[in-house]
Amino acid sequence: MKIPFNKPYMTGKELWYIAQAHSAGHMAGDGAFTKKCQAWLENSIKTRKALLTHSCTAALEMAAILSDIQPGDEVIMPSYTFVSTANAFVLRGAVPVFVDIRADTLNIDESLIEEAITSKTRAIVPVHYAGVACEMDTIMGIANRHNLLVIEDAAQGIMSTYKGQPLGSIGHMATLSFHETKNIISGEGGALLVNDPRLAGRADIIREKGTNRSQFFRGQVDKYTWVDIGSSYLPSEIVAAFLLAQTEEATYITQRRMAIWDTYHNELGSLEKNGFIRRPVIPAECVSNADMYYILLPDAKHRTELISKLKELSISTVFHYIPLHSSPAGSQFCHIKRELPVTDDVAVRLLRLPLWLGLEEHQRRVTDAILNTVVKL
Ligand SMILES: *Cc1c(COP(=O)(O)O)cnc(C)c1O
Repeated sequence: MKIPFNKPYMTGKELWYIAQAHSAGHMAGDGAFTKKCQAWLENSIKTRKALLTHSCTAALEMAAILSDIQPGDEVIMPSYTFVSTANAFVLRGAVPVFVDIRADTLNIDESLIEEAITSKTRAIVPVHYAGVACEMDTIMGIANRHNLLVIEDAAQGIMSTYKGQPLGSIGHMATLSFHETKNIISGEGGALLVNDPRLAGRADIIREKGTNRSQFFRGQVDKYTWVDIGSSYLPSEIVAAFLLAQTEEATYITQRRMAIWDTYHNELGSLEKNGFIRRPVIPAECVSNADMYYILLPDAKHRTELISKLKELSISTVFHYIPLHSSPAGSQFCHIKRELPVTDDVAVRLLRLPLWLGLEEHQRRVTDAILNTVVKL
């Protein structure tokens, strides 16, 4: 049997909820299922306001608009991230400024942020890589001292915590992804979390094409009209119905993923001890959601060889990211003022292993293949 890299998990209730949305006759956004999902997010993440979006990319674009980014403003972020983290701000005319990552968590190196701040800096976007929190106390401290907004890219961080606080509840805003490669899914999907009360009202308007439609439905205005810039960022009820089924099993899904993560970590411990690989590091103050399990090989050549050996054994593994600063668009749109040695080094050596519910019965095959192959590379 082929072992895929990812296999979306279905709880079994998705179609039942979609049928209910269908028979309720409300197919557009912001119906009962959207409200239930948003209430779930608000309760479990302890965020002031959760708004479902059609992707994390959309939520990042909303966050960029809400940050009131002007052309030429600078936004500090890691280069080792998904393109949308940067693209959302580039669309507003901002310039991403890249800061290197920490060698242990691969998250933005908080000790390098302050020296990247200029008079044009408006925001910091920490990305919680692999569901492991960035050093948020330090980052919030820097942001407060310099009057900057913090937008957590928590695409990979649902159900993770930092010093007991859920990821997504710490910054002024945060974004989540429900893409099928994430832990809790709706195919495509996401959410914007607004923790700063000053931003909550405008968030509704931007998500509703720049209209005050939400205020109209709440009876706060007597007609609805165009009041601001905006776009259509909301998902349909069909997507929200699917997502609600997933949220109901969020704890179960996370626990099973954590067990698979732990198995990898234990089984591959001897390889790390003997210097063949490096395993993920989770600081004591962080609880991870087992979004991914990765290993670091000694160099790019070892990684290429391991991928092809595993492929011969029908085991699919993937790597990411091409650092944004070394991409064609990155060099066009971003400031690349400083060397990013850790980013450059990690990007060519990191390998992500299969992690999905149901892998348990095949995981021995993956760990055996790695144990046997890596020592011979
Ligand atoms: C997946 C991901 C995104 C984009 O999510 P979509 O829902 O596919 O738009 C953004 N940032 C990070 C860090 C991600 O992992």
